[in-house]
Amino acid sequence: MANIKNILGNQLEKIKQDGTFKNERIIQTPQETEIDVLGKTVINFCANNYLGLSNNIDIKKAAIQAIDEWGFGLSSVRFICGTQTIHKELENRVSEFHGKEDTILYSSCFDANGGLFETILSKEDAVFSDELNHASIIDGIRLCKAEKNRYRHADMDHLEKLLKNSNARLKLIATDGVFSMDGVVAPLKDIVVLAKKYDAMIMVDDCHATGFLGNEGKGSADYHNVLNDIDIVTSTFGKALGGASGGFVCASKEIIETLRQKSRPYLFSNSLAPPLVAACIKVFDIIQNDYSYKKRLEKNTLYFREKIKEHGFDIKGFDHPIVPIMIYDEKKAIKMSEELLKKNIYVIAFSSPVVARGEARIRVQISADHTQEQLDYALHAFHGVGTELNII
Ligand SMILES: *Cc1c(COP(=O)(O)O)cnc(C)c1O
Repeated sequence: MANIKNILGNQLEKIKQDGTFKNERIIQTPQETEIDVLGKTVINFCANNYLGLSNNIDIKKAAIQAIDEWGFGLSSVRFICGTQTIHKELENRVSEFHGKEDTILYSSCFDANGGLFETILSKEDAVFSDELNHASIIDGIRLCKAEKNRYRHADMDHLEKLLKNSNARLKLIATDGVFSMDGVVAPLKDIVVLAKKYDAMIMVDDCHATGFLGNEGKGSADYHNVLNDIDIVTSTFGKALGGASGGFVCASKEIIETLRQKSRPYLFSNSLAPPLVAACIKVFDIIQNDYSYKKRLEKNTLYFREKIKEHGFDIKGFDHPIVPIMIYDEKKAIKMSEELLKKNIYVIAFSSPVVARGEARIRVQISADHTQEQLDYALHAFHGVGTELNII
């Protein structure tokens, strides 16, 4: 007789044999550049804590104060009895930051992307999605009835061909602002040109950019100087913006109002908890008034990218604190991360199927909070292990 324990047990065994089983490592301290994990203290290069705000004292104070003032939880979805003054305040802050008419909060950016496409697009419409887009965009698009077009990663000729061939009423180009396996910013300047030529809208998921990329930290569109040409921005509070959780969509008031009326992960899921909302408002107070976090991140990123290249490593991307160090060989990449861990450097090796076969890499993520000593220690460790394993 079929038995779920056996069926799933066998599948799990296969995952283990394939070497793609994910073991969660348990952190015994707050999220910082130095953490205790696997019973020892390591320098952390794998969190999305770009601005170093995950354990920031002022943000923590704002959260604690909000518990006193607004309570712990809301026990409701937004439209029944789950919207407080602070939820509207945070939405206004995000709108102002992105220069958009309105913003809607979600429990996560996964939910924001999951509830976006089917709500605003119908079968007369078409969506054009980069093949390397985040899983949440892919799933969100799957749910919608619009014509679905997938273009080769950052391939503008391919995107143009697809746009040209479509007779859809509305056309929406959807892209990650930053592709997180490569540390590469989407070619938004070129996408804007195509969008204008073919009368398409643009949606950017800026999870790995909001708060730090570009002149004012407004993300990938800020980096490319096309802030006014992006129609829809989705992003997360779970990375640079304090790293707790929550997501949002920013766009015109018609798009946002439609999402409030019909987007399922918004309508049928609980409101963001008050301490989180108040702390996220504090995050905007910090990043809009004090560029020192962003400046330190840029300085650390530039330094690490330059130095690791000088050591002879091959890296991907430009200017972004995600620094993929290419090892190519899958086994070597895993071995490298293990050897680095012995030297108290915590990094993750990515191999197939997360990245293409033969493209295995160590992904280093830089934080504003990394000290010069930590960066130099890591560079030294990379040099040592890279030499031992004949990578450099
Ligand atoms: C992290 C990430 C998400 C998911 O964000 P959550 O708020 O954690 O759900 C969505 N899109 C991209 C591009 C991401 O990097």
